[in-house]
Amino acid sequence: MTKIAFIGLGNMGGPMAANLLKAGHLVTAFDLVQVALDEFVKLGGVAASSASEAVIGAEVVISMLPAGQHVAGLYLGDERRQDGLLKLLAKNSLVIDSSTIDAQTSRQVGAAAQKLGISFIDAPVSGGTAGAKAGTLSFIVGGEKDAFAQAQSILKAMGANIFHAGDVGSGQVAKMCNNMLLSVLMAGTAEALRMGMENGLDAEVLSDIMVKSSGRNWALEIYNPVPGVMEGTPASKDYQGGFMVDLMNKDLALALAAAKVSDSSVPMGQQASMLFKAHGEAGHGGLDFSSIYQHYANNKV
Ligand code: NAD
Repeated sequence: MTKIAFIGLGNMGGPMAANLLKAGHLVTAFDLVQVALDEFVKLGGVAASSASEAVIGAEVVISMLPAGQHVAGLYLGDERRQDGLLKLLAKNSLVIDSSTIDAQTSRQVGAAAQKLGISFIDAPVSGGTAGAKAGTLSFIVGGEKDAFAQAQSILKAMGANIFHAGDVGSGQVAKMCNNMLLSVLMAGTAEALRMGMENGLDAEVLSDIMVKSSGRNWALEIYNPVPGVMEGTPASKDYQGGFMVDLMNKDLALALAAAKVSDSSVPMGQQASMLFKAHGEAGHGGLDFSSIYQHYANNKV
């Protein structure tokens, strides 16, 4: 049993913290939203009235927050007020930040933690809210080998696949690369299927041909974007559930910002970002990202 502080009980953090309780860990949590804390207490967790209170005696601190500024604010705090959480943590404790944020912030927090003798890993996840509930998330970890090893038993209580991408910040970079590729694959798949359909082909027949040919990819295999082609996919459920367009846009913005820093050429990522941005701005931000198919269906040249 490990004494864990969990900060951020949102759509992802709530079920992740619940799985830690199920695995027998002692979890004290804090969230700005009282209802989230009340739900957590019902499951057997302990609610704290602040992040500082949550970390008292904690061996491991996990955060699952919306964006980089929340993570920096939590751990580093205000420079003049010196109110960052890191200052309150015991030497040799472990910090796991599972939020999807920019790698620069992860590195900044990691360096500050290291100065205080605290281990830090960035461990963004893939698998969505369904994976968070089922405890089958993929963790993509950046950090030193020892810290990665130290985190194993905790991450296993919340996930099925745990990857070590490299140094601190690498987890974020790997996740950005994956999601940028995913956006390109999904848009390309929707584009090819729609063009085939507009030339008289049946979507199911064309999908079957391409999934067994060189156009084969994850979207065609298990996440077909055309309604009715594949049972159980978001496309066949009015694009409800799954991975929201708004979240894809968040990840693409992070990817493009990282590409700018490294001077990397990412024309496909830029193109996909433009498409998903327009789709979100047209009022579809809450739909699953495979709904990009609708963008093609609704925008004839
Ligand atoms: P969410 O908005 O549902 O939850 C965030 C929670 O953090 C909220 O409950 C909020 O009250 C709390 N919070 C914010 N600032 C806080 C602070 N200073 N102290 C304490 N609590 C604070 O978001 P989510 O969907 O759970 O996503 C969390 C992270 O996981 C994001 O970085 C997101 O990009 C990433 N992610 C989400 C999904 C998904 O499908 N939802 C999938 C993969 C990764």
